[in-house]
Formats: sequence, C-alpha cells, structure tokens
Amino acid sequence: MNAGRGAPRYAQVLLDVPVAEPLVYLAADADVQAGTRCVVPLGRGARVGIIVGTSGLSAIVPSRIKPITRSLDDTSPLSAHWLQLTQFAADYYQYGWGEVALPSLPRMLRTVPGARAARSFARLRESQVAPWSEATAPPVELTAEQAAAVEILNQATGFAPHLLFGITGSGKTEVYLSAIAQRLAGDANAQVLLLVPEINLTPQLESLVRARFRDQPVVAMHSNLADGERASAWLAAHEGRARIVIGTRLAVFCSLPHLSLIVVDEEHDPSYKGSEGVRYSARDLAVKRAQLLNIPIVLGSATPSLETWAQARTDRYRLLRLANRIGAAGATGEQPPIELIDARIHKPRNGLSEPIADALTATLDRGEQSLVFLNRRGYAPVVTCETCGWLSNCPRCSVFAVFHKPDRTLRCHHCGYTAPVPRACPTCGNQALKGVGQGTQRIEETLQVLLPAARILRIDRDSTRRRHAAQSALDAVHAGGVDVLVGTQMIAKGHDFQRMTLVVVLNPDSQLASHDFRAPERLFATLMQVSGRAGRSGMPSRVLVQTRFPAHPLFAALQRHDYAQFAETQLAERSVARMPPFTYQALLTAEAPSMEAALGFLRAAHAGGAEALSASEGAVRLFDPVPMTLQRVAGVARAQLLIEADQRPQLHAFLRPWLATLRLHRASPRWNIEVDPLQL
Ligand code: ADP
Ligand code: ZN
Ligand code: ZN
Repeated sequence: MNAGRGAPRYAQVLLDVPVAEPLVYLAADADVQAGTRCVVPLGRGARVGIIVGTSGLSAIVPSRIKPITRSLDDTSPLSAHWLQLTQFAADYYQYGWGEVALPSLPRMLRTVPGARAARSFARLRESQVAPWSEATAPPVELTAEQAAAVEILNQATGFAPHLLFGITGSGKTEVYLSAIAQRLAGDANAQVLLLVPEINLTPQLESLVRARFRDQPVVAMHSNLADGERASAWLAAHEGRARIVIGTRLAVFCSLPHLSLIVVDEEHDPSYKGSEGVRYSARDLAVKRAQLLNIPIVLGSATPSLETWAQARTDRYRLLRLANRIGAAGATGEQPPIELIDARIHKPRNGLSEPIADALTATLDRGEQSLVFLNRRGYAPVVTCETCGWLSNCPRCSVFAVFHKPDRTLRCHHCGYTAPVPRACPTCGNQALKGVGQGTQRIEETLQVLLPAARILRIDRDSTRRRHAAQSALDAVHAGGVDVLVGTQMIAKGHDFQRMTLVVVLNPDSQLASHDFRAPERLFATLMQVSGRAGRSGMPSRVLVQTRFPAHPLFAALQRHDYAQFAETQLAERSVARMPPFTYQALLTAEAPSMEAALGFLRAAHAGGAEALSASEGAVRLFDPVPMTLQRVAGVARAQLLIEADQRPQLHAFLRPWLATLRLHRASPRWNIEVDPLQL
C-alpha cells in the first residue's frame, strides 16, 4: 500500500462487535477502496475488518484514532452491492452492520492471517471446482406445465419475484434446472444462487446439478464444510469462477459478482430463519437481494409460507403453478389418498394401531418400502414412577428429560443434560419405572417385533451424529436396501424414494394442540411433505395418519390435497385476528437467573416504550411481558415481550430508538430482538 500524502484519511471499518456504527481508523492510503478487508488494532488485539468508506473528517479527536495495521489484498474488495445487502440486513434485523457482515464470511477471511496465509490462499484457488462429474443427467423433456413455467422465467427481466407453487412430485427441480441452464447459456459470466433449507438436502441436489451441468463449476456452501472447503467455495464464487452456488441459509450472503438468478427451494421451510446468532430470514433476504440487483428470483414450494402466498395472491409475486404429479415414464400420476385412522377407535399398541400394522405387513409382503414418520426422537418422551408420580424432569429446564434406550440415559433435548436412567425411583425407591409415550427408538422396536424379516432403518438426529451418516443412510434407502424407514422431520423432506408406497404418520396431535398461531401452517406443510414421499414412481400408494382428532378441519383440506383452500382459510383467520402477514411483529426476549428478573427487565422496557407508543397512535402495540413457553433452559429463566405494528416501517421506526435506549443499560440481563419471529 502506498503511503498517501496530503490530508489524513479516516476509514470507517466494520468489525464483528455490537456497535451500531462502523469504527473509525486512520487510513494510510489516500484512496482505500470500500469493500477492502484490513487488519486493525482493537483493544489489545488485532481484528479483521471491512473498510466501508473514507472521509477527510472525523468527529473523534484525531489523536485517539489508531491507524489501520494493513489492508489485505488476498481477495478483491467486496462489492458495493454486497455492502448494501449486509447493511440492509443489519438495519432490518436490528444488529450492528459488522455483526452481520463479518460472520457471513468464511473463517479464513475474517481471522487475522498468519505468515503462511498467502500460500494457503493460493492452494485454495488451485484446488478449485473441477467442472467434472462422473454421472450424467441429460435434460428431460419438460411437461407442458413445466415448459410454461420455464418460459415465463426465461422471459423475466429486472426484479421479478415468482412463486413456483407445485405439489410434491410435480417436477419443480426440473423447472429450476431449466431456468438455470437458460441463464448460464445466455451470459458467459452469469452466476446462479440455489438455496436449500437443509444440509441433508444439499448432497442429493448437488450431485444432480453437477451431473446436469457437467461443464460448469458448481460449489456447495453450508455449515458442515471444513474451514478450507468453505473458504475455497467462497473464493470461487467471489472471483466469478463458480457459476452455480448451492447452499443453505448462510449462502444468501455469499459474494457473487455476476449473480443473475436466485432460486429458493422449499421456501416455506422454517430453517431459512436461523434460531441462533443473527436471526435473519435467508428467504426474505434473497428476495431483497434480487430487488437490489434487479434480477429475477423464484421461490418454490408445495406449501408456500402464508407470507409468500399473500404476495402471490395480490400479484406482487407472479404465480407459476404445477398442478400435476409426474408419474412413471413421464405420465402424470395421482396423489395418493390420505386416510385417517381414528386412534380412539383403533387403540394403538406400542404406538401402532391395527390398520397401520396390517398395512405395513402387506407392503413388506409386496416387496415395497414404507416410511413411518414420528416427530419425536428418543425412546419415550418421559419416564415416570406410577407409585409416587415422579417424572423425569430435566433439572435445568422446564421440560422432561427423554429416555434413550441404546445407552439407557435420560437426555434433555434442550440443554444437553444427560444422566443414566435411575434403577429405582429417586423419590420412593420403586424399581418399576416406566417410559411413557412413543419416540422413534420405541417405534423402531415395535416394528422389529411386528416385521421380524424386514430391514428397518431409523433416521433421526441420534442415528446420524457422525459426519455423512445421514447421507449414507439415505443412500441405503435409495438403493433399496431398506424396507421400512422410520424417522423424524429429517426423512420428511425432499428425498425421492422410488419404491415407497406406504407413508404412516404417527401422533400429529401434539402440534394440533399448540398455542403458536403458525402451528397449523407448519403441520399442514409437514404432512403434505411426508405424504409426498409415497407413490412417486406411479405405483399405487397409501398415506395413513393416526390421530385422535380426525374431524379437525386441517385434515379435511389435507385429504383434498388442497393447499390453496387451506391457505385461504388461514389467511382469513389471520386477517380477522390481526396477525401476520397482516401485521408485523418483533419479539424481545430476556434471559436471567430468575423469572422475576427477566420479566422485570421486560416490564421496564415496556414502560420505556410508552411515549413512543402513544406517539404512534395505536399503530404500534406492546404486549405484556410473559414467560416463554419453554420457561427455563439450562437453568436460565426466559421471558418475552411481543411488539406488533400495522405497517413494517412503523415497526422499525419504533424499534430503532427503543433498542438504542435498551443498549445503554449496562446492568440488564441478556436480551435479544427477533424481527419477524417464526415461533412465539
Ligand atoms: P418436486 O420437487 O416438485 O417434488 P421433483 O422435481 O423431485 O418434484 O420431480 C419428481 C420426479 O419426476 C423426479 O424423479 C424427476 O426426476 C421426475 N421428473 C421431473 N420432470 C420430469 C419430466 N419432465 N419428465 C419425466 N420425469 C420428470
Ligand atoms: Zn416413586
Ligand atoms: Zn435441560
């Protein structure tokens, strides 16, 4: 870097620290470019920051401003668009700009480089993206519906949001791939970003994309990559070498200088909204990114989020429909019928009612595959003593510790507490403790007894802790080496099992009873998704749902496979009740040693907002602070305060000064703000 002559230059530098404004440093070069990474002193240490601007003036006493140690030229500067996107995200979700921008970079680009950094960057660039794949996947002949959707996407110019609303098995992926092919063919530099909700779904899609685009460099980006892999993928994208980036939510911030199309698969999936760290919605930011870049975006789903659906029905998003399932050999197939098994009449034994046991047996006899879905891992959700009523509470949380049979432990799924199952009741000494209720491990056991000859495989977070374990398990199912697949949410999504002709859903009832107003939307999406695993190859198939509430209206819509109608009734209810997407929410949560302290903080915050609230004339409302549904986690009490506004700008106008005041209170308990919370 040249030592600049003339007036001193002050650089605004983003760092990963909780401050609203960039920090000011003295720049040695007269024209340091915005977007350049640099090393700066902070406290006693050194940090990597990003220069976002320079000026000749500074409000701070010049003698107190430290110089930038050095700027980093191992990468070209981040673009103005990238800076704009991260700044928008920080403003919108109420974080410091640097708190969003820096964590979005791979670790190697945000830690102070050591002596060998230059060599490792060179190696990363060499190891990059061989555009080669063993498999081939020639383009298929599109159905008329697919062709129509692709045609519209190909014509799209400028900022053009689309909702690809297609039932499971209707061939949405093929539409994405054709649209991507068209973009890449039309512009030798064009890059495409393909977002998927879950890491487990990336390998399958990644190999399909690699096989289809054999001469194009493709990179994957998700949190399971090693540091080097992640940095290498990021560099390939940033330097324009990667043409297609497939990634999970964090990929929405990937630097892509020639981004010209964004695809968000399964756009309704809650995992696009993280529950830790910066709580941004990758789907919403993807739409914003498309708007900033003035490019098309397509959101795809069989069960769109009601937020997205509301945009499509008012034509702000263009609706593309795929109404038919693709059957064997390209013939359009039927959706399998969904049958409700009334668990009050057909009493389940060890979790399975008789009609379901019969159906599983018959499916095995025909040599076909079954899937049993139960969204509860472990063996039994709680252990109890029937003599004195003792329950296996987690000592640190307000939930039960779950019985895990393989290692005979009680485990808390929230704080990680693990202890051996006591031999006798800790209260009364009774030796006959009992596991109550069903988890996936117990259903697996029931299935082993029912179908001794069957090859049964369980997939849940416990069975797939090892790296790549989930993928090899799913590969086994695809290869036909599994007769019955039992598992949680992990098996509900995306997978395309060819000989799966029976889908069983156990105990959806707990979600029907939830207080969260989004519970029906989520349950409907999950049930549609699991049902969609059946009969994808056109073989006659069944879906059986075991429930104690067969008369629930949600099931009626589900049986008609009628998402649109379900969405309309949900939206009507929400409109009347003034709930999102007709209002805009934020959730302030506090964590403290006692519930009183957590609530006390929120009450004070509530009082502190009173003046601004009355100025808003009712357009912004604060609810009373209440304990969270999960009141205590790992010994910490948790409470929440809901903020609601009629319009989005009103919400933000209120939040900004209010939170700035809260930040000034040094002695407050830990708190967090979540804009557009998905879980209340
Ligand atoms: P969705 O994502 O909508 O659930 P997929 O994209 O997985 O559906 O497609 C379902 C199945 O149909 C896949 O096996 C896919 O390979 C196949 N498929 C998609 N489009 C066609 C087509 N035009 N002709 C033949 N098969 C197709
Ligand atoms: Zn007891
Ligand atoms: Zn716990």
